[in-house]
Amino acid sequence: MTSHIMPTYGRLPVTFTKGEGAWLWDKDNKRYLDALSGIAVCNLGHAHPAIHETICAQSRQLLHTSNLYHIAEQEQLATKLCNLSGMDNVFFANSGAEANEAAIKIARLYGHEKNIDSPAILVMEQSFHGRTMATLSATGNPKVQAGFTPLLDGFVRVPFNDIAAIESAIETRPDIVAILVEPIQGEGGVNIPDADYLNNIRALCNQHELLMMLDEVQTGMARTGAWFAFQHNAITPDVCTLAKALGNGVPIGACMAKGKAATLLTAGKHGSTFGGNLLACSVALTVINTIETENLCRQAIVKGATLKQGFLSRLSTNSHLVEVRNKGMMIGIELDQPCTELVALALTAGLLINVTGDTSIRLLPPLVITEAQMTLLVDTLSALIVDFVS
Ligand SMILES: *Cc1c(COP(=O)(O)O)cnc(C)c1O
Repeated sequence: MTSHIMPTYGRLPVTFTKGEGAWLWDKDNKRYLDALSGIAVCNLGHAHPAIHETICAQSRQLLHTSNLYHIAEQEQLATKLCNLSGMDNVFFANSGAEANEAAIKIARLYGHEKNIDSPAILVMEQSFHGRTMATLSATGNPKVQAGFTPLLDGFVRVPFNDIAAIESAIETRPDIVAILVEPIQGEGGVNIPDADYLNNIRALCNQHELLMMLDEVQTGMARTGAWFAFQHNAITPDVCTLAKALGNGVPIGACMAKGKAATLLTAGKHGSTFGGNLLACSVALTVINTIETENLCRQAIVKGATLKQGFLSRLSTNSHLVEVRNKGMMIGIELDQPCTELVALALTAGLLINVTGDTSIRLLPPLVITEAQMTLLVDTLSALIVDFVS
């Protein structure tokens, strides 16, 4: 059968029809353990009853009006996010790329207010910020950009986790007005920077009056063991973007801002038809409530440590293991060789994983994964890895 879907994805040969927690079933009723959560989206697992009930109740009442009117759920969600993050206000969009578009627009407004004609944003190598023209121009991956020139101007790139490189870029480029960075690079290979990296960026942004803009689309919403990854560093950014897990599968993105950055997107400067509608916002409120009631920040820390320990006890003597690294439930297992084929082998074994940066297995399990499921994950994947490298 010819597909009528544009072939933008190399898809694995499986179609899922139902889920529950960390389990998924395909159309032949084969069961799979999901250690990827739809790429850090379903942090509460699949078919969570609270999410199901919220969607039902909201659809019975009202799904969408317009941002031409007040939306109580949007106000409540913005207040909740600001209370949790220390930010001042929020713009709601529908995806991570759109959230980052808002951040990029804020940076440009900020630059023009400083009378910089052509403001630039400092971005990182191996970064990922999305697939729209602005966000793919910001992204530090030539594969994402190939074929799409002319790219958007106004991005200056330095290596990730290199404060000296940021300092020298700032010295030589007075047009830089903001730094956009992921607290941990996800698509780039679960790259965890030095513990004080974000603190040093914060200090440089203060010193040079630059906006510190964090892309927390993947790291946000309890994934790393805090509501937002920047909270591990006890700093607050000027702009912080969210999406993925904010709606647990219902599309929603958010661009949070603080201080000067929170004053720039005024009437007529930005908008979205769907952004922040009643359905998306009521679901996101339930996501936040559930993270609180199920103590999922804490769970992410405890379960992430358990998984790391499990993999180390099975793999640390294997000469092909480079490193197991994690921040909460964002886990990378780096091998000394390309291992993309493991994804298909794991699928056959009933396990969903991902490989980024060619040599790093990326695990983003639902935060509600059980002890027994974690044991199964460690056993299955460790055996596959040992087999694969030998
Ligand atoms: C997934 C991701 C994006 C893009 O999000 P979309 O919803 O696919 O547009 C942006 N930044 C980071 C860090 C991501 O992981």
